[in-house]
Amino acid sequence: MKEIVLIKYGEIILKGLNRHIFEDKLVKNIQHAVGKTAKVYKSRATLYAEPSEGADVDEIIQKVKRVFGVVYIVRAGICEKNIDAIGKAAIEYIPMDQYKSFKVETKRADKTFPKASPEVSAAIGGMLLEAFPHLTVDVHAPEVVVSVEIREGGAYVYGAKIKGPGGMPTGTAGKVMLMLSGGIDSPVAGYMLARRGTVMDAVHFFSPPFTSEKAKEKVLDLARILAKYTGGMRVHIVPFTEQQLQMKAKCPTEHLTILMRRMMMRIACALAEKSGAGAVVTGESLGQVASQTLEAIAVTDACADMPCFRPLIGMDKEDIISVAREIDSYETSILPYEDCCTIFVPKHPATKPKLSKILESEALIDAEGLIKKAIEETEYVDV
Ligand code: ATP
Ligand code: MG
Repeated sequence: MKEIVLIKYGEIILKGLNRHIFEDKLVKNIQHAVGKTAKVYKSRATLYAEPSEGADVDEIIQKVKRVFGVVYIVRAGICEKNIDAIGKAAIEYIPMDQYKSFKVETKRADKTFPKASPEVSAAIGGMLLEAFPHLTVDVHAPEVVVSVEIREGGAYVYGAKIKGPGGMPTGTAGKVMLMLSGGIDSPVAGYMLARRGTVMDAVHFFSPPFTSEKAKEKVLDLARILAKYTGGMRVHIVPFTEQQLQMKAKCPTEHLTILMRRMMMRIACALAEKSGAGAVVTGESLGQVASQTLEAIAVTDACADMPCFRPLIGMDKEDIISVAREIDSYETSILPYEDCCTIFVPKHPATKPKLSKILESEALIDAEGLIKKAIEETEYVDV
């Protein structure tokens, strides 16, 4: 049977006059994701991916599943527009033996079709009950809804819906700069902003020889995983050894963590500005470690000259891990390579830093000079 992939979207509908901009972007993004394997177009509030000759429909669905803005996906069989053909398609195409209860829903977009929707539903329901005597009809909480859409080009028949990632189409929400470490949190934070439609660059601080080449490769691997959702990203790699060594030599030990975070933040903001990004994103979660207390966040934010988003702020580690597993970054994140943050951390960092005290410590180093140097030495990799 000929098949087609139907793609439904949700929140975009709320966008009023800008709606078509979001829809067009979504069509473009899906087309980009599936390449030549399908032709993507819009008709009414549904998008269609029409598989090319010989294309693997499963593969198309896997690709559409990663496009933000897609709420759900259905794989439909197309048959002739008459009750017998539709009933036969429902029996053969939908794996009804997997379910115990069902209901049929019919939409009649083609108003020339002689039967009303409830009549079609009743007829198809009857045929299914006859073919699968174990089934019962449950109109309130069916295990599966058998959908029939009668359209100009034929009748579409489908069963279970496949969940998409939701969110907004990439490219509709501006650009951000993700502070990407090798940990579990920051890739998840990046994913959450990407899901709201941002494109992104990432910045990674590394401290050779204290951090290894393998640690850097791991971060690039994480960026590649994120890039599958965002369509690509530039990773700015900032050498941070000298900066850390100077702070270690000259500043009070208990202030090192917060001083380092302030310097990272300023470098990230400067690189964001240069790349046309309007905000910085981190994987911080309130209370998780010493640098993630309210006081520490306030002292770090005091040196940021653009918004800093922390989408994980209210999430528990367990919740973060479950998203990391979903987006497939977890296994890479837990590879045991060192991060520059963990190498220079003091045993007893200040958990309630005061801005005035931190500024005194910061005055002991040439912060401006170190920041300038770091930016000059930054390299980038496109993934
Ligand atoms: P993660 O799991 O993301 O590494 P974490 O729980 O280890 O986070 P921290 O090490 O305190 O927490 O880092 C907090 C945030 O600061 C990270 O989520 C990330 O956004 C940023 N960050 C930390 N280290 C680096 C780094 N080497 N390069 C870029 N950003 C970093
Ligand atoms: Mg970390």
